[in-house]
Amino acid sequence: MTVSVAIDLALDKLFTYEIPSDLEKKLTVGQLLCVPFGHREARGFAMAISDQVNEQSSYKLKCVSSIVDEIPFFSPVLLDLIKRVAIYTASPIETVLKTALPSAVIKKNAHAKELLFVEPNESGDITQLTKRQLWIYEQVVRLKGGWLNQLSQELKTTNSTIKALAEKGVLSVAPKAKRRDPLLSRRILPTKPLELNDGQSKALDAVLCSTKPLLLHGVTGSGKTEVYLQAIASELKRGRGAIVMVPEISLTPQTVQRFASRFGSKVAVLHSALSDGERYDEWHRIRSGEAQVVIGPRSAVWAPVKNLGLIVVDEEHDSSYKQDTSPRYNARDVAVLRAQLEGAKVVLGSATPSLESWNNSLSGKYAIVSMKDRAGAGTLPLIRLVDMSCSQKGIYSKDLLDAIKLRLERSEQTILFLNRRGYSPSVVCDGCNSAIECPDCAVAYTYHEADKCLRCHICGRWIMMPEKCSLCGDRSFTYKGIGTQRAEAALKTCFPHARVLRMDADSTSRKNSHDDILGSFRMREADVLIGTQMIAKGLDFPNVTLVGVLNADRSLQMPDFRAAERTFQLLQQVAGRAGRSELPGEVFIQTYDISCEVIRMASRGDFEAFAAEELACRRELWYPPYCHLALINLRSKDSSLVARWSLMYSQSLQKVKGIKVGEAVPAAIERADGWHRWQIIVRAANASSIVKAWKWLLKERPCPPALISSIDIDALNMM
Ligand code: ADP
Ligand code: ZN
Repeated sequence: MTVSVAIDLALDKLFTYEIPSDLEKKLTVGQLLCVPFGHREARGFAMAISDQVNEQSSYKLKCVSSIVDEIPFFSPVLLDLIKRVAIYTASPIETVLKTALPSAVIKKNAHAKELLFVEPNESGDITQLTKRQLWIYEQVVRLKGGWLNQLSQELKTTNSTIKALAEKGVLSVAPKAKRRDPLLSRRILPTKPLELNDGQSKALDAVLCSTKPLLLHGVTGSGKTEVYLQAIASELKRGRGAIVMVPEISLTPQTVQRFASRFGSKVAVLHSALSDGERYDEWHRIRSGEAQVVIGPRSAVWAPVKNLGLIVVDEEHDSSYKQDTSPRYNARDVAVLRAQLEGAKVVLGSATPSLESWNNSLSGKYAIVSMKDRAGAGTLPLIRLVDMSCSQKGIYSKDLLDAIKLRLERSEQTILFLNRRGYSPSVVCDGCNSAIECPDCAVAYTYHEADKCLRCHICGRWIMMPEKCSLCGDRSFTYKGIGTQRAEAALKTCFPHARVLRMDADSTSRKNSHDDILGSFRMREADVLIGTQMIAKGLDFPNVTLVGVLNADRSLQMPDFRAAERTFQLLQQVAGRAGRSELPGEVFIQTYDISCEVIRMASRGDFEAFAAEELACRRELWYPPYCHLALINLRSKDSSLVARWSLMYSQSLQKVKGIKVGEAVPAAIERADGWHRWQIIVRAANASSIVKAWKWLLKERPCPPALISSIDIDALNMM
């Protein structure tokens, strides 16, 4: 008998080995094996077993050396899913295998016992430390200790530097075994199922009875989560497990707690802040069947849940379900496929479904159920548009300021949304009128007030704010545009006594800071929360009665055929944060284009009208969901090389029948991190015909070493 093995080198090729007779009974697909590879041993997964002997083969096959772990890492269904995703996304099978399995799981030393915890030792003598060592010691005190690997990463130092401090007696570094996810280890009060309203009962029935994937279209606050909870409870009763996928950003203690309160220790949480050891533990709890309900972001779709009964994809339209590195899969679509292969149910929930899913419901491919009213005490907020074109160049309109003032007087809370972090998105020299740009990327630097730095939001490079312009020497600059830091500063000028919190990528870079800010806002330690899209999703604060959108037009100006769809979704999600309990909510949307139809429909919350209009456009221009769209990305440090090859590739592809190929063009961000970027848009009725054409072309005309290419099937990011 022989076995084909995927070896962890991204060769996009399986290797065949003979199974020695002593392993024949034990070896099954999905196991991790040790095999001879060249002059060394390699590890790889058993993909398929065959009992055909190839008599004609002129050379003798090598034998499998050993089985690393007899319990398979992948079930046959998961392996099948992985193969299909590899083919669909045109990715090597090894990269999909790697994505499907947390790397910590196959690392030998990730197990509990081997994790080291660092704590300050208060009786240590700190006078003997160097300046740098003292700084590290102080950070450990400030953070109240932490796991060795995480600390050294966070403090940009090495494990040995921290261990050296332990030798000096100021820190203690010791193994610490028993871990539970920090989100779950807090006190959890069990909850009972709520009595469902009519809409929810209908939705629950649909989830449990539908034989097709189900789109649950429910306005924000309509009680979708309660429907998920009861559907999962019903599956558990029948001995089946469930996966709940949420965007990483909504994976707050609040969301997790709602599941943990209902299902207790049956819940496993997978999120990006887990350490290797925590991830290892959670994965093994799932594989052993101890945890039957898994909640997590995109990667949760691969969780080895036994006897899978239901997959929930909450906020199914969210672009974080799409991975933007290889394999470029969309976890929502993988969820639908996995459910089909496992005979499980799948429900896609959203207040603003993606037009792909919406169209699937119109065509009958998906079933659909709608919940149009808020559950519980809340009512949908009143939404007003504020015309900014006639007002002064201020950040806040008078209407919005009056509304904030009223909330401050009534001790109610306000959320302000602005899709741009930093202080101002560009700094322009008054002398020569040129913006200061990152030398490696074709974008302007963003000014950050806290440390008086200019930062590139593409590559992360930063410089101190210069005193004079490097081009003309002028010493005065204008700060153009508004970021969250500037909005915060301006608000504090208007209301010196207001307590303001800011939440964006800059204020949440530390582990847990995200939860700290939200926790503090929930405890009413602040009056106003200003933030980027981080605050748009999933948050439920009963005392918030006002939401302000500072610049609704910005996301409409993106060079992306989904700009209108994104804007509509964003406005609906943000507006949905207001008026979630007894107190009625009010939303102000500030815009420079009051006649814009997308913003008007969003203000009426009229998803159906928006979808109908947008779909008509897409159909006419033959864009998704009416076709599949792939983006071929090409980059090189050599600008003329990438231009020449991109044009050659697009011209060659244009000759292929059955696909529609655009001219190669420089990407919207033409240069990033020193790379010159070009792209080709390819559309077709079937994604597979695009993959086939591209693979053929790469074989005919392989990329030269200085050119890097990738293909993104069903691309969501057009930049
Ligand atoms: P969604 O997930 O659709 O945004 P949630 O599940 O967060 O909505 O529900 C919104 C609010 O309504 C929550 O505070 C929830 O506790 C409450 N709620 C949901 N269903 C019911 C119900 N059947 N009866 C009373 N309150 C409910
Ligand atoms: Zn840059």
